[in-house]
Amino acid sequence: TLSDRLNGVFDRLRGRGALGEADVREAMREVRVALLEADVALPVARDFIARVTEKAVGQQVLKSVTPGQQVVKIVNDELVAMLGGEGADATGGEAVPLQLDVRPPAVIMMVGLQGSGKTTSTAKIAQLLRTKQGKKVMMASLDVNRPAAQEQLKVLGEQAQVATLPIIVGQQPVDIARRALESAKLQAVDVLMLDTAGRLHVDEALMAEMKAVASVSAPTEVLLVVDALTGQDAVNVAQSFSGEVPLTGVVLTRMDGDARGGAALSMRAVTGKPIKFAGTGEKLDAIEPFHPGRVAGRILGMGDVVSLVERAAQAVDAEDADKLAQRMMQGQFDMNDLRTQLMQMQKMGGLGMLAGMMPGMKKAKQAMAASGMDDKVLLHMDAIIGSMTKTERSKPELLNAKRKKRVAAGSGTSVQDVNKLLKMHQEMGRAMKQIKKMGGLKGLGALFG
Ligand code: GDP
Ligand code: MG
Repeated sequence: TLSDRLNGVFDRLRGRGALGEADVREAMREVRVALLEADVALPVARDFIARVTEKAVGQQVLKSVTPGQQVVKIVNDELVAMLGGEGADATGGEAVPLQLDVRPPAVIMMVGLQGSGKTTSTAKIAQLLRTKQGKKVMMASLDVNRPAAQEQLKVLGEQAQVATLPIIVGQQPVDIARRALESAKLQAVDVLMLDTAGRLHVDEALMAEMKAVASVSAPTEVLLVVDALTGQDAVNVAQSFSGEVPLTGVVLTRMDGDARGGAALSMRAVTGKPIKFAGTGEKLDAIEPFHPGRVAGRILGMGDVVSLVERAAQAVDAEDADKLAQRMMQGQFDMNDLRTQLMQMQKMGGLGMLAGMMPGMKKAKQAMAASGMDDKVLLHMDAIIGSMTKTERSKPELLNAKRKKRVAAGSGTSVQDVNKLLKMHQEMGRAMKQIKKMGGLKGLGALFG
């Protein structure tokens, strides 16, 4: 990961002085690679790196983290700030909401290339507004180029339980927009959504049409819909549209694909407008407010569950894990195995983090919380297991009151602590069986992949 690579760059700097210019520049080469790998447009990457370099050089090196981690944090914060738009801060940022606070009907105009996901996104947002904000919404398709386009919106409207403007064959986009506006006023609609036509490429006729529609409908939101998978092309599209129509935001579709999020950063930089929604699938509920923090993590290749699982897979030799799972299935999860597990957990960055990020570990986490377990306790537990005899370790049920007293004394803990450990051992045995059911640690990876 980027974090590892940066740690390499900064190894010698650890824990003293300030971040030097030469080191930061070297680190920025790695950052640049990460950005380009994530499909960030070259000029945007360049600009970004200049900003981060300026921020990083001369910063005091913190004691609690490695210089590499510190730079990753600076990079991450700057990414979030850049992705976030108005109101976002470096701590994560929230999506910028739609501005619908006008005399109704508020008009939302959707623009973009053909196939970018305009029609789908129109219906998704309409459904969101209806269900989450209780808005009365109407949708109208102005796409007269594609034969079935208006019909497509109608069908989606039925699914989303949102009204669509009745289709009049042969009517031109600007006239449809006028009719939609009138109809929306008459029916006291809160939000009118205009789904416009696209083209395969940006051309003058398309831009003229968008401008004309915008001038008759006076939209409060003009959302540019772009496909996150198209990378560099998306940037060119954004550039063309933002020069011609007054964009207020971006909808980034196909974030469920393997787009690494670079398009988001480029989009934000080129249009200067916030990304308001991310499309995450074909279904109508597959849309979410855009989270700058999450996408920043994706661009840097860290901080998400996938990378956690990668780390877990590195720390735990898959073969060992399988052997262990076998033993557990046969009811042989003994104290030696528990000890190995505790060590591996420590290697993976502590219990809290692991348990907090893996949905499958929720139960184990609750059990650990119930038994008063935290990272400091890991060492205690190790001492307790260390004070057991070989036989006791493989057969913990031998531990009667007398033996528990001896083990407690030997490890400098209390009988209560020994009991907690034994309880945890039982709970973990159960949790591990569940992980085994899901296909072991490798299976976990597949679940989140
Ligand atoms: P338009 O030409 O811009 O109106 O695009 P459409 O809304 O018709 O979408 C084109 C195709 O992309 C359809 O098959 C959609 O189901 C699909 N699509 C739209 N948004 C998403 C998304 O966020 N994720 C995925 N996987 N598919 C999407
Ligand atoms: Mg369409």
